[in-house]
Amino acid sequence: MSEVLERLTARVRACRICVDQPVGRPLPHEPRPVLRPSSSARILLASQAPGTKVHVSGMPFTDASGDRLRSWLGVSSEEFYDTEKFAIVPMGFCFPGQDAKGGDLPPRRECAPAWRTQLIALMPQIDLVLTIGGYAQAWHMGTTRAASLTDTVRNWRAVWDAPVTPKVLPLPHPSWRNSGWLKKNPWFEMDLLPFLRSEIRYRIG
Ligand code: SF4
Repeated sequence: MSEVLERLTARVRACRICVDQPVGRPLPHEPRPVLRPSSSARILLASQAPGTKVHVSGMPFTDASGDRLRSWLGVSSEEFYDTEKFAIVPMGFCFPGQDAKGGDLPPRRECAPAWRTQLIALMPQIDLVLTIGGYAQAWHMGTTRAASLTDTVRNWRAVWDAPVTPKVLPLPHPSWRNSGWLKKNPWFEMDLLPFLRSEIRYRIG
């Protein structure tokens, strides 16, 4: 990692915005930012926010969502956690807590405006952004994002062909909560995933 990115990452790891200057209710626990920026990876996983398991492990995607995401990408755990290959920068770095029904809250809205643009500016080698879920799509996709997540992902070929750098591919969140969505949209596994895997392999060898 470049020195300047290392310094910025250290500032992120010490961040207390959501406790000391929250927008609305404060984070219900001590901050524990989970991210893996990289100065050399070509692929950015623009994900959502840590869940309970990741909050404990301190490593992104150490849960069932991670297993599914790795299978979508066609990569081993070793490849996935190699920062020469993948940068992992979620929309919110700390576990946001849960709602009354036990569902994870959305990514903290303080996080991306505070950190995202400066972090990504220090990763100019990124040439493929995987926007995982609606929050990342809202931030990264501009007018190539459709009104719904399903339409955004269904439109992936047009998104891919858009004259933007880096290239973008939209994905649903790999959570078990989206198992029904995967069943209803078989084109995702039949058409998008083979294309995704070949683009990943092309970049990581
Ligand atoms: S979620 Fe982001 S902005 Fe909030 S405390 Fe964690 S690192 Fe800071």
